Amino acid sequence: MTEVSVAKEDAAAPGELVVLKSVNKHFGALHVLQDIDLTIERGEVVVVIGPSGSGKSTLCRTINRLETIDAGTITIDGKPLPQEGKELARLRADVGMVFQSFNLFAHKTVLQNVMLGQVKVRKADKKKAEANARLLLDRVGVASQADKYPAQLSGGQQQRVAIARALAMNPKVMLFDEPTSALDPEMINEVLEVMQQLARDGMTMIVVTHEMGFARSAANRVVFMADGRIVEQAAPDQFFSNPRSDRAKDFLSKIL
Ligand code: ADP
Ligand code: MG
Repeated sequence: MTEVSVAKEDAAAPGELVVLKSVNKHFGALHVLQDIDLTIERGEVVVVIGPSGSGKSTLCRTINRLETIDAGTITIDGKPLPQEGKELARLRADVGMVFQSFNLFAHKTVLQNVMLGQVKVRKADKKKAEANARLLLDRVGVASQADKYPAQLSGGQQQRVAIARALAMNPKVMLFDEPTSALDPEMINEVLEVMQQLARDGMTMIVVTHEMGFARSAANRVVFMADGRIVEQAAPDQFFSNPRSDRAKDFLSKIL
């Protein structure tokens, strides 16, 4: 694989994996991301919280370039985000994303869902892709569902398949955008447990969630957003027991 060469001054510091600098984005008149500076270290688990409409999903979507930005820079592993083509497909593989709505391919089996990207984007041999897919399905606890279609699975199972599918690409970082918000309550924990295990295994993760139990137990850092800005960030203990900004105090009083 040819590596894009990076000028020395652009290279990230050793531990830095995702770096956003002065990122700004508008939707028409709406300034949805305002001067976002955010650095995610390798192996770090960052939970992003904030009121609805504060820009959390847009932030996630800019990191794998589902949205473009108007100003600022985003680098992954020291490289600026590619604009198009094969490089973009590779970026989307490097940055795994799990959405609120599971987004599996409905007309493919569970196994095929987890194999597809490995073969198409990573150019993996089919046998190897299948073996890896089965391993991952086992890891997320749905190995016995391999030959079923997504619609035959529960929401919690589908979301675990979506996680396995992203992991199959061997991503550098995983983005989760409210991965349990669309689930029935009894299925939330089975998905959170898979995410907890991933975190323990050292995966770099950016997680938008309202599950404060997950934030307390799995996050290294909580980032609080409001009105398109990062208002404060702190270790979970510190953030939950002693939020500094009025916006965060107000938000926490409503959800805790
Ligand atoms: P959050 O995930 O924190 O709820 P979003 O990032 O989804 O916030 O949205 C932030 C703001 O941007 C909201 O006001 C939303 O309505 C607006 N928005 C999101 N996506 C678009 C879009 N594609 N076009 C126009 N406005 C959008
Ligand atoms: Mg959102």
